[in-house]
Amino acid sequence: MKRLDGRVALVTGASRGIGAAVAQRLASEGAVVAVNYAGNARAAADVVAAIVGAGGTAEAFQADVSDAQACQALVEAVHERFGRLDILVNNAGITRDGLLVRMSDDDWDAVIATDLSSAFYLSRAAGKIMMKARTGSIVNMSSVVGMVGNAGQVNYAAAKAGLIGMTKSIARELASRGVRANAVAPGFISTDMTDALPDAAKAALSGTIALGRLGSPDDVAACVAFLACDDASYITGQVIAVDGGMTFS
Ligand code: NAP
Repeated sequence: MKRLDGRVALVTGASRGIGAAVAQRLASEGAVVAVNYAGNARAAADVVAAIVGAGGTAEAFQADVSDAQACQALVEAVHERFGRLDILVNNAGITRDGLLVRMSDDDWDAVIATDLSSAFYLSRAAGKIMMKARTGSIVNMSSVVGMVGNAGQVNYAAAKAGLIGMTKSIARELASRGVRANAVAPGFISTDMTDALPDAAKAALSGTIALGRLGSPDDVAACVAFLACDDASYITGQVIAVDGGMTFS
């Protein structure tokens, strides 16, 4: 018996990076996984194939999570297809970095819509299903940047800090119905998102990590799997930093 047997999980932004690792980890623990992606159908299909090849169950679901109607339709499609929805991982995210005084409205809006509003749309839709079922776990992918800020990322930091407030509010609202909500705050994880950083920025960041290495998507996925399963049944409203000791005080 695996610890997520019989559960259905929706992971947004699961075609690459952290989301792909989360999807594969949840599937390896027994969950049926809906692999959401925005435009990269090939990468999503590869994630599904890897899960199925390892004996798990997964299907790809295209949806732009910055769009409210698309989020509602995504949750309905997953629920209809698999008959339940136990785990929602709001992982999809983008960056559009720039200094405050030069940041365009478009770059602000895009990051807020994709990284923050998406979690509201999806949690609202999934929360109704979970409350009715009297069980569920929502995991929001925040960032250490949402806790400590970062020059050049006012949009991203605001979205990630917003996710923390949203997580705690959802946890308070839904606890009496058996639904938990937690956030994971990764530090510096090696993915396409961080590969785009200049080498000098990577070197400077690495020097601030107590454990002396960048994190891997699997490091984050292990924490998400824990929060999603019953081992965390007495944990809600928490933010867990998976950052190699980058930000503790
Ligand atoms: P990534 O490698 O850039 O992958 C981003 C994923 O999000 C892709 O699967 C992409 O789908 C999807 N996505 C983007 N916009 C979307 C949209 N509008 N609708 C649906 N899916 C969308 O990113 P990552 O590094 O794995 O980051 C994953 C999450 O962790 C993000 O929320 C990020 O902010 C957070 N995080 C990352 C780090 C880090 O160091 N990497 C640190 C802290 C927090 P397509 O493949 O279809 O484009």
